[in-house]
Amino acid sequence: MRKLSLFLGLLFCGPLAAQPQRPNILFIFSDDHAPQAISAYGSRINQTPNLDRIASSGALFRNSFCANSICGPSRACILTGKHSHVNGFLRNGNKFDGTQTTFPKLMQEVGYQTALIGKWHLSTDPTGFDHWEVLPGQGSYYNPDFIQMDGSRQRFEGYCTDIITEHSLQWLKEQRDQNRPFILMCQHKAPHRNWSPPARHFSLYKDVDVPEPESLFDDYAGRSKLLQQNEMSLKNHFSWGHDMKFQGDNYFPDYFRSLRGNGEYRRMTAEQRAAWDAAYEPENQEFIRRMKAGELTDKQVVQFKYQRYIKDYLRCVQAVDDGVGQLLDYLDDEGLAENTIVIYSSDQGFYLGEHGWYDKRWMFEESLKMPFLIRWPGVIEPGTKSTALIQNIDYAPTFLDWAGANIPQAIQGRSLVPLLKNQGQPSANWRDAIYYAYYENAAVHNVPVHDGVRTDRYKLMFFPRGREWNLFDLQQDPQEMRSVHADPDYAGVLAGLQKRYRDLRQFYDVNTATIPATRGDESRWKARNAQLTANARRGNVDLAFIGDSITQGWEGAGKQVWEQHYGERRAINLGIGGDRTEHVIWRLTHGNLGKIKPKVAVLMIGTNNTGHFMQDPDEVAAGVGEILDILAERLPETKIVLHGVFPRGADSLDEARLNNVAINQRIRRLADGERVHYLEIGQHFLEPDGTIRREIMPDLLHLSEAGYEKWAVALEPKLKELGL
Ligand code: CA
Repeated sequence: MRKLSLFLGLLFCGPLAAQPQRPNILFIFSDDHAPQAISAYGSRINQTPNLDRIASSGALFRNSFCANSICGPSRACILTGKHSHVNGFLRNGNKFDGTQTTFPKLMQEVGYQTALIGKWHLSTDPTGFDHWEVLPGQGSYYNPDFIQMDGSRQRFEGYCTDIITEHSLQWLKEQRDQNRPFILMCQHKAPHRNWSPPARHFSLYKDVDVPEPESLFDDYAGRSKLLQQNEMSLKNHFSWGHDMKFQGDNYFPDYFRSLRGNGEYRRMTAEQRAAWDAAYEPENQEFIRRMKAGELTDKQVVQFKYQRYIKDYLRCVQAVDDGVGQLLDYLDDEGLAENTIVIYSSDQGFYLGEHGWYDKRWMFEESLKMPFLIRWPGVIEPGTKSTALIQNIDYAPTFLDWAGANIPQAIQGRSLVPLLKNQGQPSANWRDAIYYAYYENAAVHNVPVHDGVRTDRYKLMFFPRGREWNLFDLQQDPQEMRSVHADPDYAGVLAGLQKRYRDLRQFYDVNTATIPATRGDESRWKARNAQLTANARRGNVDLAFIGDSITQGWEGAGKQVWEQHYGERRAINLGIGGDRTEHVIWRLTHGNLGKIKPKVAVLMIGTNNTGHFMQDPDEVAAGVGEILDILAERLPETKIVLHGVFPRGADSLDEARLNNVAINQRIRRLADGERVHYLEIGQHFLEPDGTIRREIMPDLLHLSEAGYEKWAVALEPKLKELGL
């Protein structure tokens, strides 16, 4: 309706006359604030009166989820309205491509003022904002630096949360154009690790114990064994200085993982430090005394860690709540409240000791959920509560809807506006499930790559490392302590959710063959990858072989043949056994091309996408295409010999072989005869009846020495043709 009235306005009344007043948007966003630490969500451990003001005058969403539970990726999902694999920001450490379409740019185009103050964490400078001022990286709690729009850094004395609130208020008061609607994104660092509170909240919870979560001592039984490999437990992965805020020597190295100091302490002024010491040192000294006296059991040490952790966390939350109160008061005092939509959210949830953890990443409820509180005066009835499944990819289309801007087709989220107008009641065609994916493999905290779907009642997770499903019935097991994927009673649920998983992946265009992936958690892979990078750094290469175990095998069964054909030709082997297209994509963009500028690169990849996954041939072909694009960009002068994937299996009707045939039908078309030359030599390995002799492929997949000889002979004319 809004678009229609705008259109009529343009026709009959001039551009602005008939345009309804569009709302301002105040988006308050924190970092790692779990819903279970907001009293409106029923927190057992704290009170957040100002956040509760938003909930009580508007709506609270219980089933609000992130698409990828980690700081940078969640922000990228919000800006683009797209899942991580589409917006390209898969994991922290990526650089956000600020040239892509984001909602702030589109809002600018329809006349909104856009401002961003606080944590950004996307490595590149913000784009699409009329005003921005951001923390470098994670930023600091004490006396933080802010990057200014001219690129300079400015340090402000004080406490980060308070400074972000003050600067947001300043922008509202002094810098915004009062004649245009605005969106202000006030983005806190708090309560991110290492949870450093302001002095005014040091005494909060001082003489009380905060209740422990039931699963604080979770033994990880009944779920994927990968849970046990986590490196994010209070018990084993807390540092003496950084997390626990002890100064000086770590007297108990068996209990505290490292000496890593508290960087915030080093930034403090003498006055701040004196207040800090007065608050922390007596407790610290008492703990050291009791430990030395042998008074504390292992369990009590974990409990002590939990109390220190949760109190610091909640004190940081309290400062966020204070800031929210100041902003709400300002809107009230200035008469802005009526036409300003206020949202409070956080980039993901967090473990507040549940499962023995701090941090996020896993698809379990505590970190999958994001708080979502919203006040929209005159539209949302006060005290509304919704259980509709919403996700952070919905924010961008919602903002665009409010602004009266077009919502691009490529956006994957859905506008929440109809849902909000209907008091949180979803329409019949609202989503039945959300898709989640986490991509940081074997990085900080050792949480494996996994993805999955969640409906209102069930959650299905898939762990590619180990090819393992976990299924949870949230109604029977809200704490997710027992996977029922192997329970016969749940066979139907499992099959249904697996179908939903596959369909949602297709719907969101999730093709793992094109999404860069490392196998850095496998020590042999890691070592070989490092060796290949070192080899490539030496440069001086005319011929490069890129692929999986069949390529790596030139160093095994094919060694003599290699020496004979390529020993004198400055050739490099960039094959790693077990690799799929996504791993080659990762390697070629993470050092494996080193300084080489080969005349010819020989690429064969895809048979593991077939064998391990029976992946759709279209998807595998897209992965091969992605590799060719990378080579075109990084080695524009290099000619490529693209091999059809070699045949495998006993005979011509072997299922994996048929999949390779289908892949080859597609990748053949990727050749241009100029830079990329397609070469299919599979027939040389086959008998006339289509079978493969064990003398050529002993395991019907890998080549023997005789097989490598056939490869070299079949390849040679093409190498000559390409000038080698
Ligand atoms: Ca975060």
